[in-house]
Amino acid sequence: MAGSHDIFADDFRFEPYWWTAAPRPEEDLGYVPDKADAVVVGSGYTGLSAALTLTREGRHVVVFEAGPAGYGASSRNAGFVGKSLKYSFGHLLETKGEAYAVEVYREMQDAFDCVTGLIEQEQITCHYRQCGRYMAANSPVHYEGMAREYELRRKYLGDESEMVSKQDQHTALGSDIYHGGAILPGLGGLHPGLYHLGLLQRARNAGANVLGHTPVTKIVRDGSEFTVTTSRGATRTRDVLIATNGYTPKATPWLRRRVIPFRGLMIATEELPKEKLDQIVPVDRTIHDFNNNLTYLRRAPDSSRLLFGGRTGLMSDDGEKIARAIHGRMTKILPDMENVKVSRAWNGFGAGTFDLYPHVGTHDGMHYALGYCFAGVPMGTYLGRKMAMRVLQKDRDAKTVFADRPFPTKWWYGGTPWFTPAVVARFNWLDARGR
Ligand SMILES: Cc1cc2nc3c(=O)[nH]c(=O)nc-3n(C[C@H](O)[C@H](O)[C@H](O)COP(=O)(O)OP(=O)(O)OC[C@H]3O[C@@H](n4cnc5c(N)ncnc54)[C@H](O)[C@@H]3O)c2cc1C
Repeated sequence: MAGSHDIFADDFRFEPYWWTAAPRPEEDLGYVPDKADAVVVGSGYTGLSAALTLTREGRHVVVFEAGPAGYGASSRNAGFVGKSLKYSFGHLLETKGEAYAVEVYREMQDAFDCVTGLIEQEQITCHYRQCGRYMAANSPVHYEGMAREYELRRKYLGDESEMVSKQDQHTALGSDIYHGGAILPGLGGLHPGLYHLGLLQRARNAGANVLGHTPVTKIVRDGSEFTVTTSRGATRTRDVLIATNGYTPKATPWLRRRVIPFRGLMIATEELPKEKLDQIVPVDRTIHDFNNNLTYLRRAPDSSRLLFGGRTGLMSDDGEKIARAIHGRMTKILPDMENVKVSRAWNGFGAGTFDLYPHVGTHDGMHYALGYCFAGVPMGTYLGRKMAMRVLQKDRDAKTVFADRPFPTKWWYGGTPWFTPAVVARFNWLDARGR
């Protein structure tokens, strides 16, 4: 790694930056119980939110996790807490009408409130702040589109926003490549690793049995019960909840054919002088652009590093390749960062769906919540709770516009997204044309 043009800091590691303050738990493996009221597969936000809800209602819950607890995207994401859906409010208004558009976006607000409420009630220390977000426009057309979209959201939903012209861009972001943007003051940011550890601790304290390093290999339905087989033993249970999002395994083939794992890549820079950070991110907001192949950045909430992510198309688990690709992207957008070194690089999987909606439902007796299209900090927490409410048969609390929608797949899709490079190439082609 040495060399005069080396981008790697001395402490470079291929590991999520978040794991420094929130290391993945190393723990003794507890025994796999013969019986449980409910088995949750996956220990990210979705699984823990569901487990916490169920245990608080007196259910005996076991959570099986293939890696150490929270090994998936929940300890790897950027920590943006937003209210975004792949469909804009304006698009839903035009295609589905006012009632539906408002219903959907009110639920995005509910999901946001679910996270902030949980953090407050459970007193989870995770650097949560309503810091606001800056959305950078890739072209004048995007800028105009944003202005229309946020005006509609102000009118129908009461959401505040403020447009920033290209001339004033440096008040929000130290880059010349964008065409202005919008400030959304209502959105938040947190430390995803600490948020996850907080949820884990609350779920365990409530009585959930969270077992890491225990991948589920088979789930068999037998009348009104299931046998969930893991690498270390089997549990019989009445209810199974699948919370595996971008890591959905072969043990649940029906779901695996319906979610498309998408790789997100991130880096953390070395510590930066205050003046440098102030120049790049003058106001401590989360920031992302309007590209199809999205770029996102923020200040680390607990140090003077810049966190930068994007390039979901690189199909590699090589830490140095990831670091170089993302560093290259960063210096294209922020040329002043050229000589800044990289301390951490990592990747993780989110999940898209063919209809671009998140889904919660029940198939073959098994409950599921997944497909958050990279908005899983709020949606995972929220739909994990909704999934638990389905198990508890609390119909009013379980109600959501995202429940029991048709969950499409394609006849040619088996769960391996071989087409990702082509999709990303198309994204890049559209982005180069500002579309
Ligand atoms: C780089 C990156 C940046 C992102 N940034 C943001 C952001 O800023 N804001 C936002 O809202 N969203 C973001 N996301 C998306 C968000 O992180 C996810 O949507 C969310 O964490 C999903 O949570 P989850 O609990 O459903 O799944 P995960 O946290 O991915 O957990 C699924 C778990 O299932 C486990 N599992 C899989 N198979 C098995 C098995 N057979 N047995 C047992 N366990 C199994 C996996 O090991 C994994 O731990 C980002 C994602 C990535 C990758």
